[in-house]
Amino acid sequence: MAEQEHEHVRVAVIGSGFGGLGAAVRLRREGITDFVILERAGAVGGTWRDNSYPGCACDVPSHLYSFSFAPNPDWPRTFSGQEHIWEYLEHVADTFRLRPHIRFNSEVQQLRWDSEQLWWEIDTAQGKLTADVVVSATGPLSDPKTPDIAGLDTFPGKVFHSARWDHEYDLRGKRVAMIGTGASAIQIVPAIQKEAGRLTLFQRTPPWVMPRADRAITKAERWLHRQLPFTTQARRGLLWGIRELQVQAFTKHPNELGMVEQLAKRNMHRAVKDPALRAKLTPDYRIGCKRILLSNTYYPALAQPNVDVVASGLSEIRGNTLVASDGTETEVDAIIFGTGFHVTDMPIADRVTGAEGDTLMQSWKGGMKALRGATAAGFPNFMTVIGPNTGLGNSSMILMIEAQLNYLADYMRQLHVLGGRVALNPRESAVNGWNNRVQDRMKRTVWNTGGCNSWYLDDNGVNTTVWPGTTTEFRHATRHVDVGEYEVVRAPAKPAAPTTRTKKKAEVNAA
Ligand code: NAP
Repeated sequence: MAEQEHEHVRVAVIGSGFGGLGAAVRLRREGITDFVILERAGAVGGTWRDNSYPGCACDVPSHLYSFSFAPNPDWPRTFSGQEHIWEYLEHVADTFRLRPHIRFNSEVQQLRWDSEQLWWEIDTAQGKLTADVVVSATGPLSDPKTPDIAGLDTFPGKVFHSARWDHEYDLRGKRVAMIGTGASAIQIVPAIQKEAGRLTLFQRTPPWVMPRADRAITKAERWLHRQLPFTTQARRGLLWGIRELQVQAFTKHPNELGMVEQLAKRNMHRAVKDPALRAKLTPDYRIGCKRILLSNTYYPALAQPNVDVVASGLSEIRGNTLVASDGTETEVDAIIFGTGFHVTDMPIADRVTGAEGDTLMQSWKGGMKALRGATAAGFPNFMTVIGPNTGLGNSSMILMIEAQLNYLADYMRQLHVLGGRVALNPRESAVNGWNNRVQDRMKRTVWNTGGCNSWYLDDNGVNTTVWPGTTTEFRHATRHVDVGEYEVVRAPAKPAAPTTRTKKKAEVNAA
């Protein structure tokens, strides 16, 4: 790529969900305005734009599931719905004047590190550009995963994924199959049960479901939050503190979670009177091993006469007939896949080619790992927001995102201090050291010992997604960039202009 022919920016941010918008705000705060946000869709919002399925809401309270630098005194409910969270992100984009930086419909197709120029070459759906630093904020829950089911391509009815809901399709009176029992499915089931003629839930693994303390936030509360902003902060602080205290049970003392299982069982008993159905719905692994789900309406919906639970995974499709692993056959008109996302095999990793010519996907074939959840060896000046082992089992991801943005801010400061054309490439030893410490702590956690298989674990059974500690610990670990953990890369010196002597020598050699 010739130097003059393309646009060059200091930072390219990929994605405009919580991570991407947060990164943009943080860059502006650092006085950096030479950045673009590359967004594949036509609107901001990331997963909160894409997941518009009926009943979609967050299971982390709104006052905690929002940026600390953009508190919203007007959250309508304790657990907000998708439309309100999406609206909040639109509001953040406006308030922080981010729109001029956003390039919509600009899906990133390829990213290549140029070791001579020390910049990233970026191919997007709208053309090429280069950037000194790339912040990948595509998020782990952005690319829907549909299992490879034999016969799916021959199914004559309607098929869609929870994260790509077809709002044109009328479910009224239809025979609908819901595949999966994750956080998405348990919200969809009660939202569509009344509409569907018959609803069949394919449950490979029953989830633990706790009651959801959701309620409207009163006008008086909202007035108080508007008049006295510190009350919003206090509310947030309380929500954060409670969750911070719970972490030890998940990370060090999973047996303590046994008491919580009793509450979840009581939640089921209240709604499901049929012992045979209760038996099907009772998990056989430690609560917390998979994400703990919150719902007051899931079990009551399953107890309705137009709902069947097939306690087995979907294994084959023959025409309109869905065949479960236990042989059960069910005829349906529509299939909804609530089967999650490409988390440990993020498609963006396949599009990033680093200094050694390997893609990030290739470099992560033994498992995802990144220094402080952010940077990968061989991929200079490339940072992932919500990178490996930064997910949470019990609290708000926004806390982790903000900690990573502190790291990004210091990273930009360090580059500035070093001066000139410079890049930071994490040392392999530093990445491995960090990863070994994380994996060592992981051994005792409920996610590894609880007896379940979850999307937290990759194909090798290694937990490369969750942070095995408190958000405070992670915040401390990402406050500053330790330049000692990086190789400082300078642009190779340009060969001196050939002197008459060297020119002559070259001519002789060529002859
Ligand atoms: P998920 O948690 O990955 O769940 C996927 C489900 O599909 C699992 O129950 C899995 O069964 C099932 N499945 C896969 N293949 C199947 C097959 N052939 N037959 C039957 N079932 C099959 O996906 P998700 O529900 O979309 O949630 C992903 C994450 O998004 C959540 O963990 C959460 O972090 C986030 N989320 C949050 C909210 C919220 O805040 N309320 C809402 C939605 C999503 P197994 O359990 O046996 O693997």
